[in-house]
Parts: sequence; structure tokens; C-alpha cells
Amino acid sequence: MTDDEKARAKYEKKLARMRERYHQKKSDKQWFERERIRKRVQKRISRLRDLSKARAEERVKYRKRTITYKADPTKNNARLSLNYSVRHGLIKKPKKCSVCKNALGRIEAHHKDYSKPLEVVWLCSVCHGKKHRMPN
Ligand SMILES: [Zn+2]
Ligand SMILES: [Zn+2]
Repeated sequence: MTDDEKARAKYEKKLARMRERYHQKKSDKQWFERERIRKRVQKRISRLRDLSKARAEERVKYRKRTITYKADPTKNNARLSLNYSVRHGLIKKPKKCSVCKNALGRIEAHHKDYSKPLEVVWLCSVCHGKKHRMPN
């Protein structure tokens, strides 16, 4: 083998190695890309799953509430007339709880007497809960 041939053989070997490395890198890249997409899709699917779970729970809660109200027409009527009055500005819903003056969270209407739908006390959920546990 002449020096020339040796040099060429060496060069070809080097070239082959480079080619191999290039293909490996390329397939790594493709794998990486595939993996990235797979993870993204999985994330999206699990997020959707969580969302539909939350929606289903919300629906169950809503249904339960509707059943409770329907079981007691007086209560349901009181709620409907109050909602109507608030929506049409006949009654102003305050931003604070009338007991603890807390403005955090939802302010709820408490009926002392469901036959008087517009006579309500506005309470935060904490005070409202207390009110129902020990009525006065
Ligand atoms: Zn309160
Ligand atoms: Zn109440």
C-alpha cells in the first residue's frame, strides 16, 4: 500500500465515522422531538381530564342544590325573587358581611323567613354557616 492509498483509506474511515455520528445525532434529534411532542400531548390530555372531572363535580353539586331547592318550594321562590330583585337593582347586594364586616369571599343572602323573600341578611359564608348551625 502506497502512502497515498494509506492516506485515502484513513480519510475514508474518518468520513465513515463522521457519517455514522451524523446519523446518530439526527435520530437522537428525531427521538427527542417525538418525545417532546408526546409529553406535550400527554400533558394536554391530563389537563383536559382534570377539567372535565372538575366540571362533572360542579354539575353534581349544582344538581344537588337544585334538588334541595325544589324539595322546598318556599325556599326556591324566596331565592328566585331575591335573585330577580338583585339583578334588577331593587335590592343592593353589599360587598361586606353584615356581621363580621369581612369583604373576603362570597357574600350570601340569609333568609330569616322564607315567606318574606326580600328580607335578607347579607353574610359571608363563614357567618352564614354559623347562622344556620345556631339560629337566633
Ligand atoms: Zn361574616
Ligand atoms: Zn341562610
